[in-house]
Amino acid sequence: MAPSSRAVSISLLCLAVISPPTARAQSSDTDVARLVAALLGNTPMITDLQQLTDGFGGRATGSEANRRAVEWAVARFQAAGVDARTEPFTMPGLWLERSATATVRGGALGFAARIAALPFSAGTPPAGSTAPLVDGGRGDSLGFAGLGARAKGAWVLVEQEELKDVDGLFREYAESAQIEARAWRAGALGVAYMGSRPHNLLYRHNMNLGFKNRDHLGVVMERDAAQRALRLLRSGTALTLTAVLDLDRGPAYQSLNVIGEVRGSTRPDEIVVIGAHFDSWDLGSGTLDNGANAMMVLDIARQIKRLGIRPSRTIRFGLWNGEEQGILGSMGYTKTHAAELDKHVMTTSIDIGTGRIIGFFTGGRPEVLPAVERALEPVAGLGPFTQLDIPIVGTDNFDFMLEGVAHLVANQEAANYGPNYHARSDEFGQADQHQMRLNAAILAAMTLRFAEMSVTWSRQSRAEIERLIATTDLRAQMEQFGLWDDWASGLRGRKAP
Ligand SMILES: [Zn+2]
Repeated sequence: MAPSSRAVSISLLCLAVISPPTARAQSSDTDVARLVAALLGNTPMITDLQQLTDGFGGRATGSEANRRAVEWAVARFQAAGVDARTEPFTMPGLWLERSATATVRGGALGFAARIAALPFSAGTPPAGSTAPLVDGGRGDSLGFAGLGARAKGAWVLVEQEELKDVDGLFREYAESAQIEARAWRAGALGVAYMGSRPHNLLYRHNMNLGFKNRDHLGVVMERDAAQRALRLLRSGTALTLTAVLDLDRGPAYQSLNVIGEVRGSTRPDEIVVIGAHFDSWDLGSGTLDNGANAMMVLDIARQIKRLGIRPSRTIRFGLWNGEEQGILGSMGYTKTHAAELDKHVMTTSIDIGTGRIIGFFTGGRPEVLPAVERALEPVAGLGPFTQLDIPIVGTDNFDFMLEGVAHLVANQEAANYGPNYHARSDEFGQADQHQMRLNAAILAAMTLRFAEMSVTWSRQSRAEIERLIATTDLRAQMEQFGLWDDWASGLRGRKAP
């Protein structure tokens, strides 16, 4: 899946012709080459990633690990001589799992089933919530029709296919929004998803209602136990499920983004952003999602500083918080910096693990495409790159998109991202260290080019954003992630003039 070693060695060869630092107050193609060469070398990026993931572990926003990791990240920027600060934003509530256990019972039979609470699930009393466990089939309308009134007050067990890849992941998200809506309409107590991952791997999968959920319960159950329960149900054994969800929940609070900054030398008020979310879910240590890319962003800043490169525009390095719980940190950034958004030239997000960057999602903005092609010229040897000019929802480009700011999301080979997504297995060892360096080189070259190139596009008006929504599947995507209401209510997005 990685590019051929031949392609890489050719590009390294080209980069060997470098010149000493210059006193010019802008970066040049020589600087791009020097930066790319530096990032392909032995930088602290990998040891940073190990410190972040092994040292702090899963970093759910609101957790102590998250707070300590934020302090560490600021210190890492500063140790590299990069200006860095924290910027507060509001989280609508606290949701953390302390523990989750479950028992399936039927007649004389009883067995423990490992579970994980779905983020934003309600908690249970200390003795747990016990109810009939019923066969909801695939959770489609057929499955709920089969249940009829038996769904009321019950735990509805939903069968799931084994997850193979990122396409399967998107399918799960799309289906779960519908499944949960049906379950609550039918008066179910909770939904118990059969784990879709092999080897009884547990993971977190956000409930569609998000922080708005008050009463509904949701868990994912290890695959083997769920399959056993389903076989028992289908052979006529009545079952109950007792789930004990011990949650740490609380009111709105302040969380922090970490922003590194290299100030522009000649156009400091014009801004280029490269960012990756820094928070993770907590069953694993958040390596593929998204520690690896956060540490890549940090390393790009470090190498720009170390090489004395002076970009014309200001470059901001965003380590966003609160992404997993509703893309809230980057939203906070767009609110805090609302007055500067007209001057944001380009914002890039990276959030699909450590697979090879194969191009960029350009957001349904054809005017941006030629600029992306130009920005990628210095690293053509690490391609090929193909741009997909469609808007996508699910990571930190979201609020930039709704504010009309030009935005990109790195499109990556899925590699091992899907099976480890939000899972216990998302650990340091999953990172493709070699590919991380190649991806860092690609993003660094682009970022520096955007800090220099002449800009032929501008911020979209409210009307243009509305047109984008009307002419693409954006609305469906937003609904799938439970984000449509935020736009419709005016909580998010560019206001009409
Ligand atoms: Zn992510």
